[in-house]
Amino acid sequence: MIRTRFAPSPTGFLHIGGARTALFSWAFARHHGGQFILRIEDTDIARSTPEAVQAILDGMAWLELNHDEGPFYQTQRLYRYKEVIEQMLANGQAYLCYCSPEELDEMREAQRVRGEKPRYDGRWRPESGKTLPVPPSGVQPVVRFKNPTEGTVAWKDMVKGVIEFANAELDDLIIARGDGTPTYNFCVVVDDWDMQISHVIRGDDHVNNTPRQINILKALGATVPQYAHLSMILGDDGTKLSKRHGAVSVMQYFEEGYLPEAVINYLARLGWSHGDAELFSREQFVNWFDLDHITSSAGQFNTEKLRWLNQQYIKAADDARLAGLTRHFLVRNGANLDDGPDLAAVCALVKERAATIEELADAATLFYRTLHPTAELLAQHVTPEVLPALTELVDRFKALTWERSAISAAFKETLAAHGLKMPKLAMPVRVLVTGEPQTPAIDATLELIGQDKVVARLQAGLQAAQA
Ligand code: GLU
Repeated sequence: MIRTRFAPSPTGFLHIGGARTALFSWAFARHHGGQFILRIEDTDIARSTPEAVQAILDGMAWLELNHDEGPFYQTQRLYRYKEVIEQMLANGQAYLCYCSPEELDEMREAQRVRGEKPRYDGRWRPESGKTLPVPPSGVQPVVRFKNPTEGTVAWKDMVKGVIEFANAELDDLIIARGDGTPTYNFCVVVDDWDMQISHVIRGDDHVNNTPRQINILKALGATVPQYAHLSMILGDDGTKLSKRHGAVSVMQYFEEGYLPEAVINYLARLGWSHGDAELFSREQFVNWFDLDHITSSAGQFNTEKLRWLNQQYIKAADDARLAGLTRHFLVRNGANLDDGPDLAAVCALVKERAATIEELADAATLFYRTLHPTAELLAQHVTPEVLPALTELVDRFKALTWERSAISAAFKETLAAHGLKMPKLAMPVRVLVTGEPQTPAIDATLELIGQDKVVARLQAGLQAAQA
């Protein structure tokens, strides 16, 4: 049974790197018909916040990375860590260490002077035939894991290949602090064990924790999961991911008008590939996903590519859905949605060129706002020479059955009668009806704005020009 987990520490929002880890863990479980578990690693009380927990849950929900079990909170499992620590102490797999912070500093300083690597020297580690110091009174001991001193600890990382550490390099890890609280690596181990995680997929900033975790798992008699450590994601410019690119909350992409399916498609390609496929659905991704095609080099964030993907998904999206998503951007733009055409129809017309929902809203705004053209635009386009043709066009418009083809025919007939080319007439119409020199196709635009409004605005414009 494949069981994966996403185990964020709730110390900030869910950013691009975290979301990619979540996506790969989720997809691996889904691909194999397994289970995906959400675990909130909130034992660092000082840095964990309920807002961050909520931000993670919101981000996961928006991306529809649904978990089968959890969320489990480590702060609710403290009894369990304690229980395992007691058991390890009883079994001699862990021991009490009474070193004070000052003593540890002295120890490291002496090692440094001798040119050695600073490490815990094992002075409280019980060994056969060794006499331990007498515990000082008034000191709360920490609990250390009795790490093997010989041999190596190795695993075949599913992304990075075989990774090996010499046990001599690993300190006896503190698994519980003086106040009894368990430490980070220890909680991860107990949880991965209890939750029967088969595959740990996480960022490669955890590679150095893995040998310690494996040693503890082995001591507990647990099955060691498979590990897949994902390479980091670099920013657009090849440097560390920054606020400008990706080191922001995934919810910011929602706020900027990205569709979740575009973000999913985008994240999938950050360090994983399927041939040269760039555009694929969530279902295809789940079908294709494996750990063999994860690149071991760092993925690079590319804002342009994300925009391109989003544009493809906007084009393909249902117009009613786009209308719903566009609404709040339109309101922000000062649009009056009660006075204008059906928003879904407007989205259908303008979606072709929008890379974000925000851009879609910007293009749709002119349908819901009376924009007053600038004097400069009027002077440029509503010239005396075009007034007779404009007057005729308005007369034709008044008599039309209002639909795109009839509007287009009225333009053609008027142009022919006055010996004009399309832009000469279309530009003043655009400016007078929408206030803008650029609109989608003029016949479709006018059709949506509606006969009464178009005629009234053109008439008002003509009157003002003739006055
Ligand atoms: N809580 C860790 C983090 O947010 C992840 C631990 C793990 O995946 O093992 O980086």
